[in-house]
Amino acid sequence: MNIPSDHRASRQPRGKKPFQVSFEFFPPKTDAMEERFWESIHKLAPLHPRFVSVTYGAGGSTRERTLRMVSQIKAETGVNAAAHLTCVGASRDEVDKVIHAYKTAGIKHIVALRGDPPEGAGKPFVPHPEGYRSAAELVAGIRKIGDFDISVAAYPEMHPQSPSWDVEIENLKRKLEAGANRAITQMFFDNDDYFRFVERARKAGITQSIVPGIQPIHSFKQISGFAARCGASIPGWLAERFDGLEDDPETHALVASAVAAEQVLELVDNGITEFHFYTLNRANLVLALARLLGVRPD
Ligand code: FAD
Repeated sequence: MNIPSDHRASRQPRGKKPFQVSFEFFPPKTDAMEERFWESIHKLAPLHPRFVSVTYGAGGSTRERTLRMVSQIKAETGVNAAAHLTCVGASRDEVDKVIHAYKTAGIKHIVALRGDPPEGAGKPFVPHPEGYRSAAELVAGIRKIGDFDISVAAYPEMHPQSPSWDVEIENLKRKLEAGANRAITQMFFDNDDYFRFVERARKAGITQSIVPGIQPIHSFKQISGFAARCGASIPGWLAERFDGLEDDPETHALVASAVAAEQVLELVDNGITEFHFYTLNRANLVLALARLLGVRPD
């Protein structure tokens, strides 16, 4: 049988452009979590990701830790470290101070977000009376302070508070027109949702990258909870694949890698070359997925 060589070990893209990957982490709370965080960073940094990002806890609760982690990632690994930033519950002055602190620390990339109210993602967002009212306003504010690379959020299944697709896509367009360089999507498990979303965005004249956010399922129970909170749906076929594996971690891990590999490779087969992985501070599954893309340490 004559199998083209590029279909064997990994799905190398056909043209010259290599696959680009980025990894998202959250700031660890305890010493034990911090140990795993660094272990994972040191496993993934040699893959030369486009950037490694660190989230910003709800309501700015991790302000100092986010800054410390991104600064340390940059210093220890030389990898481009991106800091998330939200504008919920803070005045413009307070948010601008954080942007200046990122700038002083040599951080060149910000993931700019509105954030959710402290009561939870399902509750209506009320802007601070003197604050940025949306991610689009925050992007414009960041642009005034420095020449940052800026990423924003996109929602293949629509943001839970969006009244319609028109509002959703217009909002994304506003964020990009305010100066963001790309969008990164919320987790999704049905690639068709992503393809339809990209088509809607392109029809509306959005030309920037819409990078798929891939969530490997380390724990189906935990990820189902996250998904419910952020408005991402769990397809019935996915729930069925993990059904009954609660007490069988080995099979669960094998199914998780098969599911994530299937999702990533289908995206590759549809021409996608950029991926953002939600690591939850764990490296192994993401390392395996990167390997499928031919992204390996030096
Ligand atoms: P926005 O783009 O400002 O708006 C959210 C939605 O509100 C829009 O989709 C739109 O439908 C609606 N909307 C906006 N303006 C209008 C308008 N004028 N009229 C009507 N509707 C409007 N949260 C954190 O707390 N920390 C993080 O580090 C973090 N990182 C994230 C990273 C990624 C890649 C993603 C996808 C999400 C992340 N989030 C994070 C979650 C995010 O803060 C929430 O999803 C939040 O609810 C929306 O933020 P946004 O930046 O998309 O907001």
